[in-house]
This record gives sequence, C-alpha cells and structure tokens, in this order.
Amino acid sequence: MEQITVTSPLLPDREEFSRLVAEIWDSKWITNNGAFHQRLESELAAYLKVPYISLFTNGTLPLITALQALRVTGEVITTPYSFVATSHSLWWNGIRPVFVDIDPATCNLDPARIEAAITPRTTAIMPVHCYGQPCDTAAIQSIADKYGLKVIYDAAHAFGVEREGKSALCAGDMSTLSFHATKVYNTIEGGALVCHDEKTKQRIDYLKNFGFADEVTVVAPGINSKMDEVRAAYGLLNLRQVDSAIAARRHVARRYQDALRDVAGIRFLNDTPGVRHNYAYFPIFINADEFGETRDELYFRMREAGVLGRRYFYPLISDFSTYSALPSASRSNLPVAYSIADSVLCLPMHHALTDTDIDRVLSFITRR
Ligand SMILES: *Cc1c(COP(=O)(O)O)cnc(C)c1O
Repeated sequence: MEQITVTSPLLPDREEFSRLVAEIWDSKWITNNGAFHQRLESELAAYLKVPYISLFTNGTLPLITALQALRVTGEVITTPYSFVATSHSLWWNGIRPVFVDIDPATCNLDPARIEAAITPRTTAIMPVHCYGQPCDTAAIQSIADKYGLKVIYDAAHAFGVEREGKSALCAGDMSTLSFHATKVYNTIEGGALVCHDEKTKQRIDYLKNFGFADEVTVVAPGINSKMDEVRAAYGLLNLRQVDSAIAARRHVARRYQDALRDVAGIRFLNDTPGVRHNYAYFPIFINADEFGETRDELYFRMREAGVLGRRYFYPLISDFSTYSALPSASRSNLPVAYSIADSVLCLPMHHALTDTDIDRVLSFITRR
C-alpha cells in the first residue's frame, strides 16, 4: 500500500506556473522587488486582512529581523513548545531565551506564568500560535503594556487564522509567517513579517535588503532575505487555491474529530467558537494508561505500515543542547510542556488526503 505522508505541499497548476515563469524570463527581472513580489505583497495583505506585510525568503529570517527592527536585547520570554527556529532567532541576536510553560488546553504560552519570569533584562515576549490556535493575545498584551515589553508573534502556523473576523496576525508589535513547503500556504521556501504602520514596514524593507535606504545609503547592518520573482509568482497562484485547501483540511479534521471523540485515552484540540481555524495540524495527545499503548508504540506501529505521523513538538526546544543548560529549561520549570511533548502525535493532515486515507489513519487508533 502507498505511504500516507504527514504533509503534502500545495502545488500550483504546472501550466499556469510555466506561463508566469515565461513572463519572468521575458522581463529579465528575476529578483529585487519585482512586479510579482509587489503583487504578492499586496494580495497577501488583502487576503490576510493585515495593513503591512513584507515578503521574506523563509520563515526564520522574519523572526531574526523583527528582533532587529524592534531593537530587542537581553532576555525574551518564549515557549519551549515550538519549532526550534523560534529560539534560534533569539540566539542569532545574542538574546537569552527564557522558557515559560504552556497551557495544556491550547499548547500556547500560559499567560498566567509570564509575570514570574520577567526580570530587569526582559525586553520582549515571543509567543507562538501553536498549531494555528490563537494565543490569549489580550492577556499577553496587558502584561506587555504593564512592563513595557515588545511582543513578537511567531505566527508560522497561523496563516489565515482569524478571531471574530479579525486576523490573528494583527496582535502584538509584529507577527511572522513561514511559507515553507510543509505549511498550509507555501512558496516552496518563504515567509513574511507583518507590522502595523508604514514607517515600520519601510525599516523592515531596509533590513531585508542589507540596510540599503537608497543607492548610496546604508542605514543598518541589514541582511539579505529577499524573495525572488519565481517564488512570488508561485505564491500568487497558490493564494488562489488556499481557501479550497483549507476547506479540504477542515473535512479531514472533522472526520478525525468525529471518529476520535469517544476513544479512551485520546485527547485532541477542539475548534474554538469565533475562530476561523486553518487546520494546519491535527495533534492528538495519548494517555498511555487509558489508551493501552504509548505514543511511541502507536507512532512506530503506524510508521511500519507506511502511515507517517510526526512527534511534533518533540523533543522540546529546551531539551536541545544549545538551550538545555539554561535555568528556565529545567523539567521542573516546564512540567506541562514536557508531558505534552511526550504524549503528542500529529496525524497526517493536508489538502490531498482522501476518505480512504483518513479511514486508514483512523484504523490504527479506533480498531485494535
Ligand atoms: C516552520 C516554522 C518556522 C520556520 O520557518 P522556515 O520557513 O522553515 O524558516 C518557525 N517557527 C515555527 C513555529 C514554524 O513552524
């Protein structure tokens, strides 16, 4: 039987893409803020309902650049339950990550634990909308306001996520996106940085182009993180089909939710009323005593049969050698995150899964 992969890239139509590539060849403008780059920025801003967005060449550089743009230093409060790029962006800026535990109901940074981790060196909070579940942005903002901290959301999972009709990307000072091939919306590799005003976007655009403000003026030690025309054109085509991809994901999520609701020892994240979810991932949390099998036993049993789940996020960022010696990385500081990392399994989730695929995935969990 064919393998069922955990993710599958959303690909534009090949002929349409070839026509756009031919246009780029004819124009001979292949990178540096070309026509497709400009069009994708304006179409993304409209689709995502955000005022300003800057395209990047991946989803890690906007994190690094946001910290530069906001001149964040010292210590930053962040979650250990994320992809390692979240903390790496701090490390690349010489900033010390301070890990705070997560809320088991959402897998997001627990606002009730943030204040205790603030020190005189703290300058910002970097939360993640984990699996596309929006953080408690109001609670986080009120702490940030009280202590004068910046807030940068790693929104790599939150493409298109809205609460009460408002984009989750509008929270905090800035939000970052990843358009990596594995994400809900992709430009092969790519990313973006969302901000609230024109001057900040201008600053970001300088920073992503070596700091050039004009031909002869460099205003900052910027980096090169520009997106090229070929990937911008690819991104324009994918934007036209991302709604139908999210609808297909919603169907998969509904089928998983319905089938797993009454399985002892399996917990999953329910939809939140008022939230437009993007179904970026479908994590289940396994209570081995009740389910009768550990997370790893289930993961390997599925894998041997060609059904690939992913232990995401496992290990925790705080468990990697770069960070494990930090005082905030200890197991006793992060009991919830450690226990979730040991029990989570993300089931296959993408737009191309068929009902037969879904049945096959579920059979490992419901029929034993
Ligand atoms: C994918 C991802 C990133 C990094 O994005 P890249 O485009 O791979 O550089 C950062 N943070 C989170 C939470 C991610 O899932």
